[in-house]
Amino acid sequence: GEPICECNSCYGGKDCSEVLTECLADADSGDPLFLEPFWMQHAASSAVVVAGWHRMSYRFDDYSSISEELEKHIRQLHAVIGNAVTDGRFILFGAGSTQLLNAALFGLSLDDSPSPANIVASIPFYPLYEAQTKYFNSMEFKWKGNASLWKNRSDSSGTFVEFVTSPNNPDGRLMKQVLKGPSSKTIFDHAYYWPHFSAIPTAADEDLMIFTLSKLTGHAGSRFGWAFVRDENIYKRMQMYISLSSMSVSRDTQLRALKLLKVVLKENGKDLFEFGPKTMRNRWERISRSFSSSKRFSFRNLSLNIAIIFKISQDHHQRLLTYSWPSAAYAWIKCERAEDQDCNAVLKTASIIGRGGSIFNAESRYVRLSLIKSQDDFDLLIQNIDALVSKEGGVA
Ligand code: PMP
Repeated sequence: GEPICECNSCYGGKDCSEVLTECLADADSGDPLFLEPFWMQHAASSAVVVAGWHRMSYRFDDYSSISEELEKHIRQLHAVIGNAVTDGRFILFGAGSTQLLNAALFGLSLDDSPSPANIVASIPFYPLYEAQTKYFNSMEFKWKGNASLWKNRSDSSGTFVEFVTSPNNPDGRLMKQVLKGPSSKTIFDHAYYWPHFSAIPTAADEDLMIFTLSKLTGHAGSRFGWAFVRDENIYKRMQMYISLSSMSVSRDTQLRALKLLKVVLKENGKDLFEFGPKTMRNRWERISRSFSSSKRFSFRNLSLNIAIIFKISQDHHQRLLTYSWPSAAYAWIKCERAEDQDCNAVLKTASIIGRGGSIFNAESRYVRLSLIKSQDDFDLLIQNIDALVSKEGGVA
């Protein structure tokens, strides 16, 4: 008879449980919609209403109280979670961490040295660093690729700026800088250093740290991030960048971020930091189960996270312990068969869209699968993985 619900094109039958066609499971982007149900549960308390005549002016001083309030809430949040030391640092807002990463690139490269700063990152790395460095093509900096190649450089090779993503995108590892010494500077991208995606073994205490609302609350579209900068001169140069490129961060966005953080901070973050880690843990359990019988595919990020849990349980950090679990934002998969050199193509035959390793400067034998999209996207991903793995025995 007539279906009792409206099914999407993948499903049919009375209760939409019948699979009609093999639907594409898109696990490509890092759109953090896994947090959407959390905000549905907190719809009223997180809503912002702004009358048309409100906050029209360019002027900062009229509204500075919002920025100050927001700064206070951000510092409080880091203190509660224990993921960053914020004392003795200047704070700077940006249009997402994307703008701040570029501000930091300029801020650290502009110095008295006549030669451009050398910009590096460890493979696999988030491709934006290379793309920004090359696109903005300043006389002050030059992309030099893989950080490890410059470990034994001579003193005369100039200033180095290293992007360190911790936890790393794509593989979720907690990272340290590769380059040491007085001529090397580091930009720490802590987009994923929250209990949803990582154990928090220590509070980050670096000179330049960047965070983003996108992966904390899931509001990627609001374009809001912040940087902590220890050195005043570097802070001022970064401020100059923000000022020249966009004047400042949208007050509408700041207002929304403040409202969201107020909800987050209720009862010391209890609700969000239960929901986030629980959701990610559940997804990791499911995807681990789906791949558990596979010899063709292996995870390249799971064991490291487990090691971190053991370390923490020995230290008796009860609060952190309850949060820790293999829970990285992305599964970093390796195709083990010799003939599966293009792992992304292999997954595509099973209607799974991942992001190929070469995008992260790694081998194309690796693929990143996003685990932070909506529940529907994730369910479809699991369904297609199960179908793919179940065929493994048959096709040699
Ligand atoms: N850094 C890393 C490591 C990311 O994965 C992302 C988003 N995928 C960003 C920065 C940029 O995020 P946003 O500009 O939304 O803050």
